[in-house]
Amino acid sequence: MLFSLLIVQFMFWGIWWPFVLLSIILFGRLWCGVLCPEGSLSEFANRFGKQKAIPKWLMWRGWPFVSFLLTTIYGQMTSVYQYPKPIFLVLGGSTVAAIIVGLIYGKNSRIWCKYLCPVTGVFALLARLAPFKFKPDLAKWKGYGTKKTIQVHCPTVLPLRNMTGAADCLMCGRCNNHRNAINLTWRSPNEEILRDGHTNQSIYTSLLIIYGLCGIALAAFQWTNSFWLNHMRDVVESWLLVHNIMWVFNTNAPWWIFTNYPEEHDVFTWIFGIELIIYIAGIGFIIGSTILLLISITAKIANSGYKLSVFNHLSQSLIPLGGCSVFIGLFALTVTLLQKYANLGFVWINDFKALMLALSTIWSIWLAYKIIRQYSTSTWRTISSLCFMFIVFGIINYSWLLVLHIWILKSDSVPWNILWFPFKF
Ligand code: SF4
Repeated sequence: MLFSLLIVQFMFWGIWWPFVLLSIILFGRLWCGVLCPEGSLSEFANRFGKQKAIPKWLMWRGWPFVSFLLTTIYGQMTSVYQYPKPIFLVLGGSTVAAIIVGLIYGKNSRIWCKYLCPVTGVFALLARLAPFKFKPDLAKWKGYGTKKTIQVHCPTVLPLRNMTGAADCLMCGRCNNHRNAINLTWRSPNEEILRDGHTNQSIYTSLLIIYGLCGIALAAFQWTNSFWLNHMRDVVESWLLVHNIMWVFNTNAPWWIFTNYPEEHDVFTWIFGIELIIYIAGIGFIIGSTILLLISITAKIANSGYKLSVFNHLSQSLIPLGGCSVFIGLFALTVTLLQKYANLGFVWINDFKALMLALSTIWSIWLAYKIIRQYSTSTWRTISSLCFMFIVFGIINYSWLLVLHIWILKSDSVPWNILWFPFKF
């Protein structure tokens, strides 16, 4: 029984999830359109549902940002990567929600996938890097005239004639060759960000990149090794003990609030659960706000005056590095599971992660440079803007340096102390 659970855990979090993310970068949202059971069930339910008009609150573009933050934090509270019960709760809950939404809203569509799925925002970001997309040819579209054609129901209700990118396309292939005008075409992985990034954007997309991928997700991957969290626990819990506030050390929280598996010797006290939430939210907020400030300054310098559209465009240069950061975090879990249960050594793994980070950083720098060049009117503006973006990329890389190297060294290792000392309380 235990062995089969481990196999499921490994297949699910170790193989499936990191490689779904990778597949989005390589093939677009093929997973969503062809393989995802949630989307299929939602669309199937929609056939028999009420097919009501989509209300405005449901189309709010901030949902992917909010749901990503909430599920990331909740996943850490309940140790979703370690135990099957929270997996069933999170995935089962979202599947039920997807079916309910399908039963009520939309017509022959996947409203859940477009607006509400907790990972739709991240998938839409990564799909911008995919090397191909379904592209309409306007001349052929018009040339088709009034000849009879089979109607296509795009699951995300895209304007097929005028669609520009791959972010919201689920790669279901239904529109392939529609009116002899839409075909799968190759493109540069930079095209969607560089060419359409100034129009195909919103502040919520930027917030998801900055606070989601580069803030909260990074904090969620680093807390298990975090020197800062341990130090915060020492300070807070000592204070509570001194003041005789003992109920916070109880371990009676149900597993669906905080991790509670006594048989595995893995139980959160109330105070640890609260500290964990504060840590992830706090670190995510600090990293995110610093990046937000730096990109705002970059946008102002590059464009000779602040413009939200330039800020949003520049934020998209972080997609390769932010996506790689999430992949590395999930891949670390794959390796941990293999080391723990199959006793396989991976002496090369940190070098591999460092290489991935270096390559994705170079990609992000290149995108930032090309975006800045679209707005900058002088060389000094280009160079000074790029300097601020270097600090942004440096912050993300430094966060990973802490996790992969500094925090796993002994705290009395003198050279590295210098790096974390400024952050001591
Ligand atoms: S119908 Fe075409 S545009 Fe719509 S999701 Fe499918 S492949 Fe993408």
